[in-house]
Amino acid sequence: MNFIDLKKQYLAYQEEIDAQMQEVVSSCAFIMSPKVVEIESKLAEFTHAKFALSCSSGTDALLLALMAHGIQPKDEIITTPFTFIASSEVISFLGAKPVFVDIDPGTYNIDPSHIARAITTKTKGILAVDIFGQCADYDAIEKIAEENKLFVIEDAAQSLGARYKNRPAGCLAGTACTSFFPAKPLGCYGDGGMVFTDNASLYNIMKSIRTHGEGNDRYEHIRVGINARFDSLQAAVLLAKLPHFPEEIAKRQTIAQCYDEQLHKYVTTPSVLDHNLSVYAQYSIQVNDRDSLQAHLRKKDIPTAIHYPKPLHMQKAFKPLGYADTDFPVALAVSQNIISLPMHPFLTSEEQEKIIKAVISFYN
Ligand SMILES: *Cc1c(COP(=O)(O)O)cnc(C)c1O
Repeated sequence: MNFIDLKKQYLAYQEEIDAQMQEVVSSCAFIMSPKVVEIESKLAEFTHAKFALSCSSGTDALLLALMAHGIQPKDEIITTPFTFIASSEVISFLGAKPVFVDIDPGTYNIDPSHIARAITTKTKGILAVDIFGQCADYDAIEKIAEENKLFVIEDAAQSLGARYKNRPAGCLAGTACTSFFPAKPLGCYGDGGMVFTDNASLYNIMKSIRTHGEGNDRYEHIRVGINARFDSLQAAVLLAKLPHFPEEIAKRQTIAQCYDEQLHKYVTTPSVLDHNLSVYAQYSIQVNDRDSLQAHLRKKDIPTAIHYPKPLHMQKAFKPLGYADTDFPVALAVSQNIISLPMHPFLTSEEQEKIIKAVISFYN
């Protein structure tokens, strides 16, 4: 059994994926081919964003968004300590400071009630993450941001296809960033990412930064940028996969519902708020005896993963920020009890029954 089964997905869409990739190879338009523009416009439509800018990874998407906001050394960005390191790494990479606030114990997303206290004269923005595929509380976050003149960035790397109060992930903040890393809900066959915004000026700046700070003319550079272009072959893979994505999102709901119903008596199943539709980038449960459960499942050939074993404020990379382990008790407790079960649209009901039985047998 695989934790995420990309092989089954490939075999299901093989003809379309192969044909799309062959078109790129035959045309030899490897860099910024029409396919790149096509997937940008399709995903702008999908997220209801005015502009979509593809780029080389989810991490670079975040970097482009922060650079476009003019983030400078010593600026502060408020964010969550319970996520993959990329969200905060880019802040530090620009010399700015990630300021962590604790998470909500139910959704594991940033707790807006802690944000106001963390604001200083140096605070420039809030970077919220839609963890495990469930959107953060953007109404509450935007309210604080407006009152304090801060920008908001949505890290939608795990939530493309999710909904918040009937609005799609990817349009819930001034800029939203997503990732097409193969294991994400909409994955390509390498690295890739995208930034969404309704703001034409931010879009134009990010577009320029993406290609060496280009101006209107070739070899004219109006700012210092990077090379963060999206690969045309990866755009081709996404064009083949996107038509199937809505059905995959529906399958993720069915699988999650089945886990919920059969496991909630034994473990803490995910708490998805009524106004949210999660894409379950991870199906993560909280348990008391995680290591033994993981060993028990491994013996039965069931793969699991820990997202995330160490909150960011406890990572060596962020030692200079000076946090104590106990500063964010909710994030710490969740990181000690969380474990993710296999979750992908091609998980069969037989496989799922096997997983559920194995978890229950551990508790009986
Ligand atoms: C995967 C991920 C990223 C980084 O995306 P890459 O494409 O791997 O660079 C950023 N934030 C979150 C929350 C992620 O899960």
